[in-house]
Amino acid sequence: MRKIGVFPGSFDPFTKGHEVIVNKGIDLFDEIVIGIGVNSAKNYMYNIDNRIKHISSLFESNPNIKVEAFRSLTVDFCKEIGANTIIRGLRDAKDFQYEKSIAHMNKEIAGIETVFFLTDQKYAAINSSIVREIHKNGGPIDAFVTNPDTLV
Ligand code: ADP
Repeated sequence: MRKIGVFPGSFDPFTKGHEVIVNKGIDLFDEIVIGIGVNSAKNYMYNIDNRIKHISSLFESNPNIKVEAFRSLTVDFCKEIGANTIIRGLRDAKDFQYEKSIAHMNKEIAGIETVFFLTDQKYAAINSSIVREIHKNGGPIDAFVTNPDTLV
């Protein structure tokens, strides 16, 4: 049976911090699906097609890393694609506190486990909302995002 992990997030935008989590995870899973969760009540800076294109460009050489958007509960998306593990990234204890509750609830409602990868120290300060702020104000984001030119 193929081990499929889902790495869900808003990825607005997908940063080098997110990238390192996928690169760590792919050694343990046969396939990783990067799931861009779309919440119609939320306003995103980068539209969904743009985020799909950007993330796909980063992993185009690896056919075991896929990118998909989903609008349902994360656990329902996992079931739909035959994944039984959620992958999340941790920067600090604050991430852990937040992620722990979600992981417990996903286990409770759907029996789906979550595995966590600790980010590398050099990426621990990267935060999508700060990257958005810099980009919006015309600052450089290439230290935080690979291939920023693909993001418009
Ligand atoms: P969400 O809206 O689901 O929190 P994000 O796109 O902000 O989506 O984050 C997706 C996942 O990536 C989360 O598990 C988050 O903790 C993790 N993450 C965010 N930034 C980093 C980073 N710099 N290094 C490692 N993991 C990160």
